[in-house]
Amino acid sequence: MIQFQQVSKFYNPEIVALRDVSFDIDQGEFLFLIGPSGAGKSTLIRLLIRQEDPTQGTILFDDTDILSIRKHLLPVYRQQIGVVFQDYKLLDTKTIRENVSFALEITGKLDNEVKETTDSLLDLVGLSDRQDLFPEQLSGGEKQRAGIARALANEPKLLIADEPTGNLDPETSFEIMKILQTVNEWGTTVMIATHDKEVVDAMNQRVIRLENGTIVSDQKGGYNGNCDEDKKPAKSRKVEIEAVSALPIEQKETKPDIISDLDQLPVSSAVRRQLRKNSIVTIDQLLDLSESELISLDGIGDKKAQDIVNALESFVNAPPHEQA
Ligand code: ADP
Repeated sequence: MIQFQQVSKFYNPEIVALRDVSFDIDQGEFLFLIGPSGAGKSTLIRLLIRQEDPTQGTILFDDTDILSIRKHLLPVYRQQIGVVFQDYKLLDTKTIRENVSFALEITGKLDNEVKETTDSLLDLVGLSDRQDLFPEQLSGGEKQRAGIARALANEPKLLIADEPTGNLDPETSFEIMKILQTVNEWGTTVMIATHDKEVVDAMNQRVIRLENGTIVSDQKGGYNGNCDEDKKPAKSRKVEIEAVSALPIEQKETKPDIISDLDQLPVSSAVRRQLRKNSIVTIDQLLDLSESELISLDGIGDKKAQDIVNALESFVNAPPHEQA
């Protein structure tokens, strides 16, 4: 999905933020970007969202050279990428609900879709009962959950989190990681830039380490390389186990190698999200359900079930090239 090909970024001849960086990220991956302060993590993210351009090299997103995207089309490109920030970047004069719905309104979504999607996003991050409060009335962890809900508003293919736990205590940090893990289970690629060793060790995922603007290692494991279970801090092991056991059984079972193709189904994003909440992540899983099983899914009901049946019919009857 993403390819960095020999990418360098010099801010001036003396300041080399990235030098000859190459890596690929597949759809559905969960990975960390780590390295000391000044290593080039934020620069890499700014290049990926085309906030800045590389001095040399090529960046491909779904096989498109992002440097070739015209300026007026950048907002469309950026809708594919949700970003979560260390300092949340919520709008202080809007409620939590308005912060999330605003991200949908500016892309021209219809009122009922804005409402349904906002409801399901607030539910996903566990903020339904806090939705009418303003950011300053929330804890750091709650603000970060709101930041995640907003970043997911337009169903990005990639979610980038830049030091998402930088201002949070360890327990709250792991709650945030659990939410990001769930988002990833549902098919979104997740990339997290962090200094948080405990979090990286506990998740045991792919880790790209940058130092002085170059990649010095790229492997699955903990902050300092391959995760040696015995060397992990006891607390991390405990939280990791809790994080996995907190997932619904169906999600644990569907985790390996299943890539969600629900995006291809012509239903609203709120319906897709509700299906994912029921651990339905593929069209095949949907086709296996009877109409009464569909209706009985949590939060679906008669009307949404009918929308899904119609969408499945049009999908199944569409010529193959339209299904891609
Ligand atoms: P990290 O996010 O890993 O802390 P950065 O990408 O912010 O690293 O920075 C990498 C290097 O580039 C550092 O030496 C930093 O000082 C420099 N740098 C970052 N942004 C700019 C900028 N806008 N102008 C000049 N130098 C910059």
